[in-house]
Amino acid sequence: MRLARLSLALIASSLVAMVGLATFGAWTLGEVREHQQELDQLTHLQVRLDDLSAASDALLLSSATASAYESFQREARAVQDALAQRADTDPAAEQAVGAIGEMLALADRYAGPGSASLAEREGGQGALGVPREMAEVMSRMAALGGELDSAMDAMLRAHFDIENRALYVAVLGFFGAALAFALLSLAALGLLHRRLGAPVGRLAAVVDRVAGGDEGARADVSGHDEVARLGAGLNAMLDRQAATHAQLAERERMLAESQRIARIGTWYRKLGTDAYVWTREAYRIFGHAPNSFRPSSASLYELVHRSDRANVEALHATLVEGEGRGEGRFRIVRADGEIRHVQLYGERLHDENGRPMSVSGTVQDVTELVEAHDAVGRQGELLEMAGRMASIGGWSVDLGTGEITWSDTVCEIHDEPPGTRPTPQAALAYYPPEHRPRISRAMERASAEGTPIHEELQIVTAKNRRVWVRVVGEPVRDTNGVVVAVRGAIQDIEAEKQAELELEKLAHTDRTTGLYSRDGLVRMLQERLDAGDTSPSAILASLDLRELRNVNEAHGYAVGDALLGAVGRRLQARAGPGGLVARTGGDGFAALVPSEGPPGDVVRMLVGRSDGMFADPFHVAGVELTVAMRVGYTQVSHQSRDAEALLRESEISLHAAKHGVNANGQAYTEALHEATRARVRLVQELGAALEQEQFVLHYQPQVDLTTGRLVACEALIRWQHPERGLVPPGMFIGVAEQSGRIGPMGSWVLGEACRTLRNWEDEGLDPVRLAINVSVEQLRDGDFVRDVRASLARHELDPGALIVEITESVFAYESRELRAQLHALHELGVQIALDDFGTGFSSLAYLRDYPFDRIKIDRAFVGSLPEDPFGRSVVTSVLGLATSIGAHTIAEGIETRAQRDALLRLGCSVGQGFYFSRPLEQAAFRRLLVARERLPLDRQP
Ligand code: C2E
Ligand code: MG
Ligand code: MG
Repeated sequence: MRLARLSLALIASSLVAMVGLATFGAWTLGEVREHQQELDQLTHLQVRLDDLSAASDALLLSSATASAYESFQREARAVQDALAQRADTDPAAEQAVGAIGEMLALADRYAGPGSASLAEREGGQGALGVPREMAEVMSRMAALGGELDSAMDAMLRAHFDIENRALYVAVLGFFGAALAFALLSLAALGLLHRRLGAPVGRLAAVVDRVAGGDEGARADVSGHDEVARLGAGLNAMLDRQAATHAQLAERERMLAESQRIARIGTWYRKLGTDAYVWTREAYRIFGHAPNSFRPSSASLYELVHRSDRANVEALHATLVEGEGRGEGRFRIVRADGEIRHVQLYGERLHDENGRPMSVSGTVQDVTELVEAHDAVGRQGELLEMAGRMASIGGWSVDLGTGEITWSDTVCEIHDEPPGTRPTPQAALAYYPPEHRPRISRAMERASAEGTPIHEELQIVTAKNRRVWVRVVGEPVRDTNGVVVAVRGAIQDIEAEKQAELELEKLAHTDRTTGLYSRDGLVRMLQERLDAGDTSPSAILASLDLRELRNVNEAHGYAVGDALLGAVGRRLQARAGPGGLVARTGGDGFAALVPSEGPPGDVVRMLVGRSDGMFADPFHVAGVELTVAMRVGYTQVSHQSRDAEALLRESEISLHAAKHGVNANGQAYTEALHEATRARVRLVQELGAALEQEQFVLHYQPQVDLTTGRLVACEALIRWQHPERGLVPPGMFIGVAEQSGRIGPMGSWVLGEACRTLRNWEDEGLDPVRLAINVSVEQLRDGDFVRDVRASLARHELDPGALIVEITESVFAYESRELRAQLHALHELGVQIALDDFGTGFSSLAYLRDYPFDRIKIDRAFVGSLPEDPFGRSVVTSVLGLATSIGAHTIAEGIETRAQRDALLRLGCSVGQGFYFSRPLEQAAFRRLLVARERLPLDRQP
């Protein structure tokens, strides 16, 4: 119901109630008045009856005149009539009518005209001397008077009864009506409060909140009445206001943004005040924070560079009192002391009556512009200087006359006095013979075809010095396009060339040993092969110094480096002048050894236990060191292979030697070649395997050693080969790493692991954490962290659920980026575990710099427990180490209960191994999760 209708209804019902009440009042009043009249009549009747009985007594006592009797009679009849009218309703009236009738009859007989008075009729005397008849009549008359009195009383009483009842009803009715009216009013007021008072109160509260700054306050707009419409209107207004605010804020942001990009700030000052308003960019330009600096004339003046203050004052005067428009460029001193150039523009604004109102304008940081401008001013000067410093000079050849002109700098380069003008032959003679054809050809082509010249070659100066120069030149054409001259520059690039050569040498030299580097060897060998300088029976050997790591760790890198140098020198001595020796890697060497005899002899000579060149110990830095070398080699032979291929063959052989095929030196064979080819095939198959989804992940539980409860699991890849069946990772991870296939494979592992984890979580299973193995190569690709972040996000996983296991090889490639990536992963919340600890390159120094959360003790140590004291002390040390870097320790490869018990005794409480469970297929592992079983399943822990 609308409020208007409600109020109309309320008014109508009030009117009806009022009319009802008035009618009731009027009726009651009428009733009262009627009863009053009745009472008056009765009282009057009573008086008349009293008079009548008095008159009747008088008539009896003294004989009346005819007229008195008549008036008595008239009166008596009139009273009788009056009473007769009441006789129907009142028995007392009827009784009175009878009494009056009898009264009239007595009067007629004893007092009427013609009748003798009582005294006359009665002769006998009564007791009091009154005649007897008269006494009887008198007493009857008196009795009649008494009857009339009591009838009258009864009538009055009856009247009073009726009147009381009526009054009672009236009063009751009135109170009832009043009460009803009051209730009605109360109900109306209640309704008014509910429909009007409360909503208006709520509306007012909203208005108060808005006034208090709560822009989100909105009125409740249930219903369709006017208050609801008011609320809706208020809301719409507030929404519009909020939208306007948002727009304003957005505009302000955009303005700030565009000012920031354009480096233009805005300022404003109302005239007559000293307060300035600055935009954010203005603050930025002046180098102050908006909440800590109040721009005013005085504070601004302070900001301006001392020498520019007068100019600023002049501009200020122009703006405020003068022309009203102006600009200037000044230096300011920012809060941090930096001096910047700003361009200030200002304008005076007026109100509609033309009165000056404010000044405002822009301020722009033009430092770069000013500096660039200054730089251009100095450019000419600089060019000259650069010319001198870079030893560039100009030259020209007039093709018509053959005249050659040199600038002074060119003369200087040629070690000739200024002004020298050589003949063409003399000019050519400055070049060494082997370079002369090049420069002649270049000159010819420039003259004939207009081809520009660009040559780097040597000249022989007047003092017989060889200097590297760069000669550039361009044809000069006449108006017909005919080349008439060649003009150019010559630059002394000796220093540059030397640096380049030095660099090249560096790239081809190993700095530690002074031997060739791998690249250097390939290059030199190729040169020899090209020149046919190598005997077919020469061998190319790759060697590897097995002890280097131990030496480094035991005696320090300086001794290690010295040893490398000494080994290199022995090798060089053996290889002789016809040989080549290189250090190809950390502990790797390669040597081209000319030989006449069978290659086996050469190898024995190199690495023979008793007669080999390394049989004797080395003495470096006062330390005696015995070393052993492994060697793989190939024969140069008549087959033509390039240097790179030869080196690869010898390296393949060394690789085989390392894996124990032949400790005394491994010759390159077809079989090795075949193995290499097999590796190549494997690489190709791996690529296809990924596309054909032949990889699967198995999951091995990691458990709490005390309770056997699962604390994490490790995902281990397997290759479901169509022919060879399930291939373990050991067979292909290495190849994948070397061939660059590990990147996509690792991404697959990451994605698959995250997908599985998501599924388990969706099923309400709790694998706690999932570890994946990551190769250093994956990290070196550079996108790994991004991949992890994306994968976690795609599968909506908590980063803490993922563990990344990385082996110690990470230290072998120690680099800042690698470390940064691991830190980035760690910061993401992913846990980092150091896998196979103790087998590789770990150095305590490195451990500290990496964010490892877990260290996994390699199974080599765990396997030797409980008997092996070395194993025990390794476990103890790792535990101590892990504690010191705040990491947990996990034992790998627990195969027996005894090993587990030993680990627990040593204080290691988490581990994995076949004792608890082999790596399981996903479905089997899932069953384990569902059953929440403790491990091992068949034995009680
Ligand atoms: P890992 O990371 O050290 O994994 C543990 C290896 O030890 C697994 O071999 C596992 O089957 C084996 N193992 C577990 N408990 C025992 C035990 O009690 N006794 C013995 N003898 N072995 C146990 P697996 O699955 O053959 O994996 C070998 C290695 O291959 C892994 O060593 C890991 O370095 C690498 N690898 C496995 N999956 C991946 C992968 O997805 N990516 C990369 N980059 N490497 C992987
Ligand atoms: Mg692992
Ligand atoms: Mg491991």
